[in-house]
Amino acid sequence: MQVFGLIGNPVSHSLSPVMHEAAYESLDMDARYVTFEPQRESLDMAIEGASALGIRGLNVTIPYKRAVLESNFVTPDRTAEAIGAVNTIDFTESGAPRGYNTDASGAVRALREHDVSLSNTDTVIIGAGGAGRAIAYGLDEAGASLSILNRTESTAVDLARGLSNASAAGLDALERILPETEVLINATSVGMESDESVVPPDALHADLCVMDAVYSPIETRLLRDAADRGARTIDGAWMLLYQGVEAFERWCDTDAPIDEMNETLRGQL
Ligand code: NAP
Repeated sequence: MQVFGLIGNPVSHSLSPVMHEAAYESLDMDARYVTFEPQRESLDMAIEGASALGIRGLNVTIPYKRAVLESNFVTPDRTAEAIGAVNTIDFTESGAPRGYNTDASGAVRALREHDVSLSNTDTVIIGAGGAGRAIAYGLDEAGASLSILNRTESTAVDLARGLSNASAAGLDALERILPETEVLINATSVGMESDESVVPPDALHADLCVMDAVYSPIETRLLRDAADRGARTIDGAWMLLYQGVEAFERWCDTDAPIDEMNETLRGQL
């Protein structure tokens, strides 16, 4: 039996187990996805132990995405190192376990699977926390032209400094920038379990594609406002799905059964 899993603390809320187990069932794989809640002081030991036990892959969630980088046991790829966070550890490659950030590649894939072209596309990312950093690095690698807007402007400035084609501003720049924007992404937590939006509805327009990282609720206030103005919308479950798909494909070296994973995920949300 192949064993995969998730480390974080807490992990009970995670939708990764049902999504990955749906994939194993669909492909008739003899595999299980198990959750673990190590204490911070045991994290390195937990990862080394996972490797020694033959666990094939681990996802990493809050609060350990950054801490994994401090362990000398996991070698991050260039993107995960630049983001400063690992959410996927692959034990299947030879040598040291590799660390990846599939929030970055998952966000890019969610957009591409909706036929959003990213090269030279004027894109606004609101938020510069964990999700904002991952999305910004993913889209920067994909060639998008980025404006990073954040409530705390200095955090946006720090993030933009590490990217090849990005500027930074506070949220007050939104209404000035949005008329020229093609893709808008909310990577703040605003709208999570609340009917609030960080974007004034009047600033939205029909030429926009709007993606929300927030997936609970699936239809956020921002996405409702955007749809009302004729914009295209991509909900946060797509990014969640594709970060899982990217991890699955890295560990299993085969195409993920995306429809089955998507159906199961949406059934839980
Ligand atoms: P985080 O690291 O805590 O960052 C929170 C971000 O939201 C910061 O940029 C913060 O700005 C901003 N923010 C918070 N409250 C705000 C407010 N009232 N007004 C304006 N900005 C505000 O959180 P995170 O890990 O990036 O997660 C952000 C959201 O993305 C969460 O809802 C999370 O569930 C979701 N997410 C989704 C996926 C997915 O796969 N779909 C993956 C990761 C995260 P300051 O810097 O000024 O504090």
